[in-house]
Amino acid sequence: MLVRLFNALAGSAHAFSIHARILNMTLFVTTFFTALLSAQSVVEGLDPMLSIIVGSLSVVFACLYFFARVRGYNRIVTPIFIAIGLISISGLYFLSDGINGDVPPYFVFSCILGVSLVKRKYYPYIIAINALSFVACYMLETTFPEAITSYATDELRHRQILYATTALTIFSGAAFALFKNNYDGERQIVRKQNLELQRTHQNLIRAKNEAEKAGQAKSEFLSTMSHEIRTPLNAVIGMSYILQEEDPRPDQLENLNILKFSAENLLSLINDVLDYSKIEAGKVVFEEAEFHLDELLHSLEQAHSLKAEEKGVRLSLKRAESVPQVLIGDSTRVTQILNNLLSNAVKFTEDGSVDLNITLKDRHQDQVRVIFTVVDSGIGIAEERQGDIFEIFTQEDNSTTRKFGGTGLGLAITRQLVELMDGKISLQSEQGNGSTFRVELPLKVGRAFESSANQESTEEKPLAGKYILLAEDNPVNVIVAEKILSKWGAEINVAKNGAEAVTSWEERKPDVVLMDLRMPEMSGIEATAIIRERESGAGLRTPIIALTASAMLDEQNEIFTVGMDEYVSKPFNPAELLGKINKHL
Ligand code: ADP
Repeated sequence: MLVRLFNALAGSAHAFSIHARILNMTLFVTTFFTALLSAQSVVEGLDPMLSIIVGSLSVVFACLYFFARVRGYNRIVTPIFIAIGLISISGLYFLSDGINGDVPPYFVFSCILGVSLVKRKYYPYIIAINALSFVACYMLETTFPEAITSYATDELRHRQILYATTALTIFSGAAFALFKNNYDGERQIVRKQNLELQRTHQNLIRAKNEAEKAGQAKSEFLSTMSHEIRTPLNAVIGMSYILQEEDPRPDQLENLNILKFSAENLLSLINDVLDYSKIEAGKVVFEEAEFHLDELLHSLEQAHSLKAEEKGVRLSLKRAESVPQVLIGDSTRVTQILNNLLSNAVKFTEDGSVDLNITLKDRHQDQVRVIFTVVDSGIGIAEERQGDIFEIFTQEDNSTTRKFGGTGLGLAITRQLVELMDGKISLQSEQGNGSTFRVELPLKVGRAFESSANQESTEEKPLAGKYILLAEDNPVNVIVAEKILSKWGAEINVAKNGAEAVTSWEERKPDVVLMDLRMPEMSGIEATAIIRERESGAGLRTPIIALTASAMLDEQNEIFTVGMDEYVSKPFNPAELLGKINKHL
């Protein structure tokens, strides 16, 4: 009951700290006490000034109590509180016979009481207020000695002490109850908060584990799916290549072209999705190898000129003289970035021009910053869409998808690749007035080497007389690879798993091994490890090229660790395969 009354007067433990509650209570008791004193002065017919002063003090305390309850002890309430504390304690001292009377013991009592009730950091305030009051009382007393004696009639003093004692008793009792109640209340709150924190912590750990598991499941799923999709796609692309080479009728040729084009589109779509997940998982590693910028331009031109011609778009790709011909970096990724930009430029331009200009921004010794600018005179991009055009799945509007196709992944991947290579990409465009994509990439200058552009084989049977061991378990892939390789004049032996490959390698050393990675009984990785181990004794080294349908990088890293020389991802581009075989022969 007492505690409930106290809570109502001092404020609940949820809303106020324990110190604020004590101050609230002090204010309330002081208000009550001064109001009582003022009333008493009126009843006793004392000097009306005394009733007015004490009465106004009571009103001020009441206001302060109200503000403190509503607003808390802020920068306005606290100084007023201290000032009024000072004035009222001085008044109290003054009324208690001054410092020649009861003040010294009251002073000590007041300090002890204050100090025992508030936080340590408030001790100086309590002592300072009391000390200042003491001094103020002394000054009043020496200035108006008659005032003291005139108020201090015996009967009045008797009642005053009665009121003061009553107020102090209520105050101390209430403060004690408050302390205990507050302690329990706060302990309960802390316990509740701790429980909540623990629960949140556990939930977070659970969520983290689940997210990790989901991430792992996702990459496993992607790895498997990519393998499963690429394997049949390999057959589709390979077979259409073979059929094209086998003198088809003109009407068949057209169908074959559509078949091959669609299969390649599907492949690039799968590659985009896989690329994006790889970037998201932070699994992209950039190669550092020398490449020839003109060769890169040549292959870009080959890739886009047909489409550009069809659309009546003039395509021009230029390298400024100042840009070194031979650079070091990841040419596959650079090509991918430029391919994305060029195919968009051609796609969104009717009957205009598309230019790729390569210029040098600056050069510090071996380090260069190269600028690739892709300018088109096409439909342009509205200003309000330019901000998020590099976000995933963003297309200008839905009609774009219907008219031009695409997934909205291209630019998202492009931007991420550029940024991962420490480069920058920016866009300038105006609706209806063409677009300019500017990519700045840091690369290194390479040593000049002989361009392989002219080495592209034009022979009918470039692999004539070569013996190739093909380790592959999928019968369709075997047919595709066999057809292509034998067309190139190679002699082929097929092993259906790693163990067979090792045996076959023992019996007759091939010029090149094409090794699938996932095979029953013994994987390509294990077989390569065995071959490399046996070779090290005999001082041999057979080139081993991995054929992988997986786009997952972990697997690709393993390939080199185990001692394979190269990898070709399936579905393979026949020209790329031939180039890589030739490189190692
Ligand atoms: P998509 O696979 O749809 O081409 P991108 O991420 O490459 O995806 O492009 C996203 C969108 O940005 C496109 O759908 C198109 O609206 C707009 N866009 C990109 N490049 C150009 C360009 N050169 N001219 C006009 N619009 C472009």
